[in-house]
Amino acid sequence: MHDLVLRGGTLVDGTGAPARTGDLAIDGDRIAQVGGRAGPGRREVDASGCLVAPGWVDVHTHYDGQVTWDPYLTPSSWHGVTTVVMGNCGVGFAPARPDRRTWLIGLMEGVEDIPGTALAEGIDWQWESFPEYLDALERMPRAIDVGAQVPHGAVRTYVMGERGAKNEPATPDDVAEMARIVREALAAGALGFSTSRTLLHRAVDGEPVPGTFANEQELLGIGRALGAAGHGVFELASDLAPETREFAWMEALSAETGRPVTFACLQNDLDPVQWRRSLAAVDAAARRGARVVPQVAGRPTGLLLGLQSSFHPFADHPTYRRELAALPLAERVRRMREPEMRARLLAERPASPLPIVQYIASSLHKLFPLGDPPDYEPGPEKSVRALAERTGRSPQEVAYDLLLAREGRELLYFPLLNYANGDFEPIREMLLHPRAVIGLSDGGAHCGIICDASMPTFLLTHWVRDRRRGARLPLEHVVRMQTADTAALFGLADRGRLEVGLRADVNVIDFENLRIDPPEMVYDLPAGSRRLVQRGHGYRMTIQGGEPIFEDGEPTGALPGRLIRGPQARPA
Ligand SMILES: [Zn+2]
Repeated sequence: MHDLVLRGGTLVDGTGAPARTGDLAIDGDRIAQVGGRAGPGRREVDASGCLVAPGWVDVHTHYDGQVTWDPYLTPSSWHGVTTVVMGNCGVGFAPARPDRRTWLIGLMEGVEDIPGTALAEGIDWQWESFPEYLDALERMPRAIDVGAQVPHGAVRTYVMGERGAKNEPATPDDVAEMARIVREALAAGALGFSTSRTLLHRAVDGEPVPGTFANEQELLGIGRALGAAGHGVFELASDLAPETREFAWMEALSAETGRPVTFACLQNDLDPVQWRRSLAAVDAAARRGARVVPQVAGRPTGLLLGLQSSFHPFADHPTYRRELAALPLAERVRRMREPEMRARLLAERPASPLPIVQYIASSLHKLFPLGDPPDYEPGPEKSVRALAERTGRSPQEVAYDLLLAREGRELLYFPLLNYANGDFEPIREMLLHPRAVIGLSDGGAHCGIICDASMPTFLLTHWVRDRRRGARLPLEHVVRMQTADTAALFGLADRGRLEVGLRADVNVIDFENLRIDPPEMVYDLPAGSRRLVQRGHGYRMTIQGGEPIFEDGEPTGALPGRLIRGPQARPA
């Protein structure tokens, strides 16, 4: 008698093999049978007409704080994610001396737009060292599995204090001590090390993430700790400037240590073919024996501009900042509807000289009503500028009026990255690159401006089923990308495939009715802080280690998730 039998589903096993119809049987937390006709189960579920796939393994999230108060790690778990890896991009909360806690919160708030008020209220600091952080996570009940990387920002300030925080060069002693701490973290179960090398990532005080300007000696010195441990991924977000030099150290680090180096690979408007050069550099490094892994996304980095968001096209206008920004939403909407206020705001320009502010406020050809169901690949005829041309208004007027729709809750979509061509063809090429690994959902992060944690669902709805503006992707490829491939990058050989003996992390998906809602702003973080969330529908069941944790979108109350310590061997 099996514990659970899923009958007659379409099995997409994560290996890329063709989907086939059959049963899936589960005993305890393991898969007992895949395909064919299984014997009776204590519980049986009719999965006919549904996809049965491994639980998604999302390797690029920022739940480092939320993981200490939210056992569900939403929105990710609403989208079939059963394993998350956090601690990306050099930011996180361990190691942390007590007098650095507030600063690390400010770093996370600045880089990832996670409200500092929520982090300050939500985190119960039961640790100083990284191993103590893992111990604390292990004590907390949770629905899905979590793995953590040790972040450069925290390590550097821990070792170097203010010199580290202010991005002063590290001495050989500093590097040795950082490497020692990273070795200790890896021994305790860290899945890797992460760093940031982009000027876009700054603490609330404006300081780039500690380690942003780290030289080759520092990077390689720390990388050797991964080599000595024999496990761990070296992750980074980088401006790739200068490109040749960045790829040179990534390749050298991987070649010397044998560890994979993974970097965020996205298309940007200023250099819309850089991603092609990056993929070529990755292939060249592979020919020379290094593993440099492009981490790619399934859709653009989608800024959601609204009156409740961190930014919108009028947010930096002097009158808005002075008279409106602090008002409650309803009052702001009322004032903005006054013709005199409308005229004043439309006549102004953003005050900030920051290029990103100017760029967004003036790029209304790239601004779109997202719609319901949300359209993440809108044609140029749907842009605010095109709407303006058709209706004889200015793009600013159109944007202004759209922001006031739905009582000021409307969100406008600004695809910041991966949309320079105005369609998803570059993304499709990246998703098909044989060395690419899917990531960049940024679950838990950018609460006031981005919500791409639904990416795992979107990969199925858009890329497999709904795409109209270009070729779609095979179901089996899309499933493999976010199961076997992501698990393999982090050495998690116990999951990511439907195979006898592996962990029973499974999604049962009503594919025909799978869909995502428009994102919305909610105020459910600690201290009533805001975050953008996005619901998914069509997951009939999400099973974690043999136990259903969600059924038809409702949590079952089961909390079988655990902390992952280090790479996981394939069960014998
Ligand atoms: Zn990130």
